[in-house]
Amino acid sequence: MSPWLFPQHVIARKRDGHVLSAEEIAAFVRGATDGSWADYQLSAMLMAVFVRGMNTAETAALTDAMMRSGVVADLSAVRAPKVDKHSTGGVGDKVSIHLAPMVAACGVAVPMISGRGLGHTGGTLDKLESIPGFRVGLSMDEYRAQVDKVGCALIGQTKELAPADKKLYALRDVTATVECLPLICASIMCKKLAEGIDALVLDVKFGAGAFMKDKADARALAQAMADIGNAMGKPTRALLTAMDQPLGRAVGNALEVAESIKCLRGEGPADLMEVTYALGEQMLLLAGTAKTTAEARVRLEKSISSGAALAKFREIVTAQGGDARVVDDPACLPQARLRAEVKSSTGGYVQTVGAMEIALAALKLGAGRVKAEDTVDHAVGFSSLVKIGERVLPGGVIAVVHANSDASLAAARESAAQAVRFSAEPVPAPRLVDEVIG
Ligand code: URA
Repeated sequence: MSPWLFPQHVIARKRDGHVLSAEEIAAFVRGATDGSWADYQLSAMLMAVFVRGMNTAETAALTDAMMRSGVVADLSAVRAPKVDKHSTGGVGDKVSIHLAPMVAACGVAVPMISGRGLGHTGGTLDKLESIPGFRVGLSMDEYRAQVDKVGCALIGQTKELAPADKKLYALRDVTATVECLPLICASIMCKKLAEGIDALVLDVKFGAGAFMKDKADARALAQAMADIGNAMGKPTRALLTAMDQPLGRAVGNALEVAESIKCLRGEGPADLMEVTYALGEQMLLLAGTAKTTAEARVRLEKSISSGAALAKFREIVTAQGGDARVVDDPACLPQARLRAEVKSSTGGYVQTVGAMEIALAALKLGAGRVKAEDTVDHAVGFSSLVKIGERVLPGGVIAVVHANSDASLAAARESAAQAVRFSAEPVPAPRLVDEVIG
């Protein structure tokens, strides 16, 4: 190893604000993949990148090295067009769980590699693992075979696919290095470029519950990811969507799976379905199976009304070893021991439902990780959350807390009461889909 590629020297160069070469970036990614860099060195490097940033060439080199840390899946044997969607992460964002089967039911293959909870946000993999038996760690052969046969596989980073991201993602989660454009861009795009897709739709969130609080930062992230995707020959489109209140009415792993199943039954909350349809429309357009958003919307709605999307979800759960009874009976999902309503003393029109406050309260309930080795409690969280613009009478329910200890139940009730603010005047429901980029 050349002396300047010792971990401490590469870290020092980024710490001091230098532009790293592709070789130095490759050394860092190799260190994350083969264990030759210790966790404390990887973490120090992540913090140096967080503080100093990366330019476009460094971000592209990081994405490329992370993509090549494992194999790039060859799904050329799958005849259907292959399109995925990925979100930069939000609170209550369970869209992937029902959108993937909806799109697959429309004849578009969805090979989806998702992540675990990150920072204050929940992760699709943790949510899916609340389904008893569900395996997110398929081998490459199983993944390929399932995408071909079922039209969709919902898996995580593996030893084979983007293993560097698996390592770095877990470290970022617990080292305050999540909200960083080059790290988010490389983390998302390396997985997406490794999974064998033809095209990609991104949901880039902005607002109080997102990693990018500011719309301009979200737009820059969206543009950076779209540029990398398009440069790699994968048509990529990004939607900027608002994340000031939790998406839907449930936050917490099993509770969100139950809400996704409701969506597949045509009973999904309006805000959640608005984002779901907007993303799904772009997926069908990029797949070339619909010519207009109106046509795509009709097909997606039909996937629900015909029961095809629900049937596809059942097929996916079964194929990945999960207990498909959850599809018909959400009581088969993990249930918390304690449940309590949170009521409003004043009532009024809901003005804010603090996404960050709800997310942190869910984390304290045990729905996410504080240390990398923590296990998540799949059962806990919030359901029946009110939405901005709704009218609540004095004494009306603003949320239901699901907890596994008396102390966490009391703390979560308090947090939910503080997260919801009222106005005496009517409040319009916020606009969710703000802009399409790419
Ligand atoms: N999703 C990812 O896969 N990575 C990030 O960094 C953020 C969201």
